[in-house]
Amino acid sequence: MSSDGSLDRLKREGRVVVVGASLAGLRAAETLREKGFAGSLTMVGDEPYEPYDRPPLSKQVLLGRATPDHTSLPRRRAIDAQWRLGVPATGLDMAARRVRLADGDEVGYDRLLIATGVRARPWPRESEAELDGVFVLRTRDDARGLERALAQNPRRVLVIGAGFTGSEIASACRERGIAVTVAERAAAPLVGALGGVVGQVAAELQREHGVDLRCGIMVTGLEGDAANRVRAAHLSDGNTVEADVVVVCLGAMRNTEWLAGSGLGAGPRGIACDAGCRAFDIRGIVTDDVYVAGDVARSPHPLFGYQFLSLEHWGNAVAQAETAAHNMMSDSVDRRPHIWVPAFWSSQFGVNIKSVGVPSMGTEILIAQGALHERRFTGVYGYQGRVIGAVTFDQTKWLQFYQQLIETTAPFPPSFPTVDRRPEGQRPVDADFPDPSVPTSGPTVTLTGYSPADRRMTFTPAGH
Ligand SMILES: Cc1cc2nc3c(=O)[nH]c(=O)nc-3n(C[C@H](O)[C@H](O)[C@H](O)COP(=O)(O)OP(=O)(O)OC[C@H]3O[C@@H](n4cnc5c(N)ncnc54)[C@H](O)[C@@H]3O)c2cc1C
Repeated sequence: MSSDGSLDRLKREGRVVVVGASLAGLRAAETLREKGFAGSLTMVGDEPYEPYDRPPLSKQVLLGRATPDHTSLPRRRAIDAQWRLGVPATGLDMAARRVRLADGDEVGYDRLLIATGVRARPWPRESEAELDGVFVLRTRDDARGLERALAQNPRRVLVIGAGFTGSEIASACRERGIAVTVAERAAAPLVGALGGVVGQVAAELQREHGVDLRCGIMVTGLEGDAANRVRAAHLSDGNTVEADVVVVCLGAMRNTEWLAGSGLGAGPRGIACDAGCRAFDIRGIVTDDVYVAGDVARSPHPLFGYQFLSLEHWGNAVAQAETAAHNMMSDSVDRRPHIWVPAFWSSQFGVNIKSVGVPSMGTEILIAQGALHERRFTGVYGYQGRVIGAVTFDQTKWLQFYQQLIETTAPFPPSFPTVDRRPEGQRPVDADFPDPSVPTSGPTVTLTGYSPADRRMTFTPAGH
């Protein structure tokens, strides 16, 4: 307990507001109650639903094996909250400690958790994005609409962007027997997240499963018919693809606009916070009552040079929410850092893909177990002589081992003899990541620290 009893008072009768009623928001709320928080808890969410799970939306739901309404997140415990659902937060007054809501209400807080996540980046031309048959996939409603369109046996689906979401959607289409074209600006699918060596394997997988994969091209425009239904897409190579469903998978945008003018360090790259999940204000001073968790957060990580990491990973949202909630209810000496090692999974074309660490930071890759052509392998990524990430295709059993190497900053290439290394895995090769300044869809983990190629601000010292 704090020496002046303030923490005890906060736990007994304080007010906590959570903005963003999804995975991170729910897990934080449960942890707050576990930590003995007995005060008032308000959950603000702009979607009309109680928290649900997103990973099944591009997997079981699109395959028709689960309905969007059956994706509610399991509850670990009762949270006894006031739910303000279907009402976006529109502003934050940090001095008065109040959150403004779209319906004109204001909610006061002693501790605020921001977990507003990301949204799908829409097709840039609004009139084309509004054509019937054009979808994005982020929410339960998006999934319901897309699944209905797939159930009507479209002649062809066009997926724009071959990151994880786009590739999973293409996989679901093929499993349903639907013709699908995938258009990707980079040289292969998944290159933003896993680099070109693994991207080539993903490309072969897609083609083997009957995907019409077009890489190194961009979709330049969508065309509708007289009834305002999408009918075709024009490509940068001069070709046209006829499609009656188009799914735009161009990555995500952080939900931070509602914080404009609040004085919080929030912007298109997310909300900066310290390793204890406390948000920075715009001056770089850490706040003591505003916390951040999940996809919207960017926080420094000691394993990755203290660069700020933004992660769109399910497990990170849970772990960061738990740490934020713990710290919200702790004195400064009892706070703990969020130093979760990034981990991600995807299933597509019958393959289980998992990664740990930050593969996209790697400059080299070594195929340490298995073989690329067997689609069953472990790729280890190296950066400046140490192991920085790993990916497995149907070889999950190796992940924990490489996670330990990442955690202990083990040397790269790893020096141990392996039971299963083939000739192609004898030496590292260039991991072949695209130039980070060229946007490709797909990286679900982004280093958002300072990069010399990223100079957008000029610092002018104040006159003395
Ligand atoms: C189709 C799909 C498949 C995925 N598959 C995987 C996978 O296989 N593996 C994996 O690791 N991860 C996967 N993910 C990512 C994972 O689901 C996310 O990392 C996770 O949902 C993040 O949780 P969050 O609570 O931080 O954000 P979100 O789940 O995005 O929730 C944020 C919530 O805040 C709401 N909100 C935004 N602005 C406001 C506002 N102003 N006021 C009130 N509410 C607001 C949003 O509408 C949303 O409900 C997938 C995501 C999608 C969309």
